[in-house]
Amino acid sequence: MDNKNYMEVEFKALSINEGFARICVAGFCVQLNPSIDELGDIKTAVSEAVTNCIVHAYRDKDGWIYINVSLLEGRVAKIEIKDRGCGIEDVKQARMPLFTTDAESERSGMGFTVMESFTDRMRVKSSVGRGTTVVMQKRIAPRMR
Ligand code: ATP
Ligand code: MG
Repeated sequence: MDNKNYMEVEFKALSINEGFARICVAGFCVQLNPSIDELGDIKTAVSEAVTNCIVHAYRDKDGWIYINVSLLEGRVAKIEIKDRGCGIEDVKQARMPLFTTDAESERSGMGFTVMESFTDRMRVKSSVGRGTTVVMQKRIAPRMR
């Protein structure tokens, strides 16, 4: 295993837990001594992924969200956010800027685009009826303490 450090957390898919999720992941990543901007990027990306689990995967029904974070060699935080919800039929289409299946709720279809641009790498694995996992990697630049 090349993990230097690792954590897992799971919580109910309720919008009230979105703030907890972003603070929790950001708090774990603080040991890499990130800048305020890097930490903000992580919080924003986590919020987008967790919101998607709540509003799309479970559509406000009961469900669980699973997050794990690995700190890899080279000061990289690898963040996995998983649900066991409805899944995505066409991931390529879902990742396109402005694509949304929920235009009535004033969604802008920019969540995946934000996650992709605020991190260094993003993968989406999904299976209809089984759920979705988003894996993001964020490199934290070295700096003096
Ligand atoms: P915004 O994030 O701007 O509020 P959005 O959530 O519709 O709008 P994206 O986050 O880019 O935009 O997601 C695009 C589409 O992918 C969603 O409309 C939804 O159909 C699908 N999707 C995203 N995440 C999931 C998920 N975890 N489970 C099921 N479907 C998802
Ligand atoms: Mg979204």
